[in-house]
Amino acid sequence: MKPDLPDVRQTRLDSYVDRYAARTKGMTASEIRALFSVASRPEVVSLAGGMPNIAGLPLDVVSGAVRDLVLDSGPTAMQYGSGQGDPVLREQICDVMRLEGIEAHPDDVVVTVGSQQAVDLVTRVFCDPGDVVICEAPSYVGALGVFRAYQCEVVHVAMDDDGVQPEALEQAIAAVKAAGKKVKFFYTIPNFHNPAGISLSLERRGKVLQICQDQDILILEDNPYGLLGFDGEPMRAIRADDGEGVIYLGSFSKTFAPGFRVGWAVAPHAVREKLVLAQESATLCPPVFSQFAISSYLSRHDWLGQVKQFQEMYRERRDAMLAALTEKMPAATTWTRPAGGFYVWLTLPAGLDAKAMLPRAVTNRVAYVPGTAFFADGFGSQCMRLSYCHPTPARITEGVSRLAAVIEEEFEL
Ligand code: PMP
Repeated sequence: MKPDLPDVRQTRLDSYVDRYAARTKGMTASEIRALFSVASRPEVVSLAGGMPNIAGLPLDVVSGAVRDLVLDSGPTAMQYGSGQGDPVLREQICDVMRLEGIEAHPDDVVVTVGSQQAVDLVTRVFCDPGDVVICEAPSYVGALGVFRAYQCEVVHVAMDDDGVQPEALEQAIAAVKAAGKKVKFFYTIPNFHNPAGISLSLERRGKVLQICQDQDILILEDNPYGLLGFDGEPMRAIRADDGEGVIYLGSFSKTFAPGFRVGWAVAPHAVREKLVLAQESATLCPPVFSQFAISSYLSRHDWLGQVKQFQEMYRERRDAMLAALTEKMPAATTWTRPAGGFYVWLTLPAGLDAKAMLPRAVTNRVAYVPGTAFFADGFGSQCMRLSYCHPTPARITEGVSRLAAVIEEEFEL
């Protein structure tokens, strides 16, 4: 007897679809991931990815630290460890945060698998389906993905060149409360925003904190770029002025290397305990080997000196991008002027759509991320994120030039 051949139409469908949990409806591939394969073709200048440029890392020092780690502490470094994270690294993390005015105790630090996992753990601990998270407009695509996966409702609040607008924040909170819903926290990226490229001014930090304190709303302060400013000292963290109402997230991904996957959360004591329980159920413990390697690197190398080199490298790339934009972009195109970090947020002339334009841009060998990726509600079609962190200054100039030509052509169509 001939075996039944599978129905070709059936095999194209996901036959598990009826069995998935309802929350998986919110799990969709980000627009950035979808772009990855196209943008990584060598002929394309990718202004899309936000990958740190780690070419400047002293690989001899890193390899020395890793080698000694294996030889001196191998059995511990390759074993399971504390769910809260290595105590020595937690002390070093407190030293790092002191640069932004934060006085924290190592007991209140939870090491995580990148700050991405910290966003996940905080959301898991605080949010039930239907709870509201307030975010800036636009906001970090990876955090929006987490909020969606936990079935939160995202309410966006407008920003301008000084960061989120306090009046808009107040109005959004009032509207959510009037609708009988709970705001669980306000998620903010105060420094060198991803994707907006702007920072919350010092004056506004005070106002935002006051509003959230008055309304009894937690702040989730996500700060992976804070030490990558191009002018002067790091800005004072919001967490520096409130240890109870702010959960602060940090990361070594941009100041060291993302492949180690080490970030952290600092939270009020009771919340910290819940985060550790959530961490233990998710991963048992953050990667011990990575933590020891970073800890050893921090103690044997001039890490701050290396961060300064990163600042210089990114400043040079930022300058190349701003100069090329000024020279090449058609009138009525506007963009932000970042004082640190990786990103410029560009707004196209009225009537143009960044997502619709992307295939033509890729044909013209330049890629970017359409603005809609950074909104939970379909907004942002006139905008795009441009990253200057990875390509060389010459490639950035070339990429912006190609992009400007695509925009010009779009007018003529
Ligand atoms: N928050 C923001 C604002 C980011 O831009 C990123 C990385 N792009 C993360 C969190 C996550 O970083 P990591 O998990 O590598 O620490």
